[in-house]
Amino acid sequence: MHSDTRTDVLVVGGGPAGLALAAELAACGLSVRLVAPHPPRPFPATYGAWLGELPPLALTCLTEVWSDVRVYTGEQPTPLLRPYALLDNARLLGALLARAGRALRWTVGTVRGAQREGEGWTVHGAGGQTWPTRLVVDAGGHGGGLIRPQHPGGAALQTAYGLVAHFEQPPAPPGGMVWMDYRAPHLPPAEVQAAPTFLYAMHLGGTRYLVEETSLIARPGLTRARLRERLHARLAAQGTLPRETEAEEWVAFPMNAAAPAPGPLLAYGSAAGLVHPVSGFQLADALCRAPGVAQAVAAALAAGGPQAATQAGWAALWSPERRAAREVALIGVDALLALPGEQLPAFFAAFFALPAAQWHAFLAPGTDAGTLARTMLRLFAHAPNPVRLPLAQAALGQVPASGRALRAALG
Ligand SMILES: Cc1cc2nc3c(=O)[nH]c(=O)nc-3n(C[C@H](O)[C@H](O)[C@H](O)COP(=O)(O)OP(=O)(O)OC[C@H]3O[C@@H](n4cnc5c(N)ncnc54)[C@H](O)[C@@H]3O)c2cc1C
Repeated sequence: MHSDTRTDVLVVGGGPAGLALAAELAACGLSVRLVAPHPPRPFPATYGAWLGELPPLALTCLTEVWSDVRVYTGEQPTPLLRPYALLDNARLLGALLARAGRALRWTVGTVRGAQREGEGWTVHGAGGQTWPTRLVVDAGGHGGGLIRPQHPGGAALQTAYGLVAHFEQPPAPPGGMVWMDYRAPHLPPAEVQAAPTFLYAMHLGGTRYLVEETSLIARPGLTRARLRERLHARLAAQGTLPRETEAEEWVAFPMNAAAPAPGPLLAYGSAAGLVHPVSGFQLADALCRAPGVAQAVAAALAAGGPQAATQAGWAALWSPERRAAREVALIGVDALLALPGEQLPAFFAAFFALPAAQWHAFLAPGTDAGTLARTMLRLFAHAPNPVRLPLAQAALGQVPASGRALRAALG
């Protein structure tokens, strides 16, 4: 099936990143085709974000906001004093579609490849379809699409298994959310050492909670079966087994994408390496940056044509400063991977003891390399000795290139 309608842009993927960019491109006056294997549908994952990092459009699409946000690295909670929000995915979808308006054409299909055709492209669907377009944006997510993000040393995964369920006894503080609970007295120390996991939990009102056993980062990632077993062991030890389960959630995605080399196709979202290498967050950043990237693309398309637009898109996405920052953040990933599992609570105790502005910046998407490097050194200075040694090895010993990146960032 051949489409004769050539669009300005074809976006591969109907996740939040692809749709956010498609909507902003359409708002810039470009004709946009979005190809996804499914019709518009609320995004399937549970999306949380720091309230202060969300753009105005997303603030109208929240289902919960918690001001009681805690971390447990020991028996006593650390209050984070930073509101955290849960997105209402149906409303977010509706808001993005409304923003896109009629300039967006949603086509159900699976993209298999893209071929240069003169100044533009012909995109091929798995069902034999062809779609002519001036510009292609791959927003096919972690696993799909046309561009393969690079993960130095192999993909290190964040994995989690969760339940939305009703509980007789609250499994987490009523009215609050637990960002990380590393307490695990119910597990043998060797288990914790081999594979540290934490509880991420939200009170959703009444007797309803989301509880998720999470491995922040591991190579290879933990299996669904192991995390499921861990979650049940934790809930059983707390005496808070669920009464009635509404839904399960399985999370698995790579955290350690390198800044991508600009290619002939543009990318966005996780396909463009936007996932934060230490927190795993991406949603707020993808929503915030879509207008700027779309404007850069639209202006260059008008002035210089498709290739100039692709280059402008990559430049807007990955400035030299952001590339330098990613190199430093990947040192943080190496450090986390090198840390013996039982030291992670002490590491995060030191992390959240930093001045709030510093740990906020460390987890924020646009922080520069120098600030990241200085925060890492401050954390190193304040961490207990058993945490310091593996951190030092990861940063300077095992990976000489990392040492160079750190020194460059510190000037
Ligand atoms: C379960 C889960 C929970 C998460 N929770 C959070 C969170 O709370 N906060 C946060 O910031 N981040 C979170 N993340 C990380 C990240 O933000 C999400 O993975 C987010 O969904 C990535 O958005 P995306 O649009 O880049 O990709 P995706 O959401 O993966 O969307 C990709 C889209 O591309 C389509 N596609 C793929 N291949 C093709 C193809 N060949 N042709 C056409 N279409 C294709 C898919 O069908 C889909 O529509 C979570 C990840 C997971 C897996």
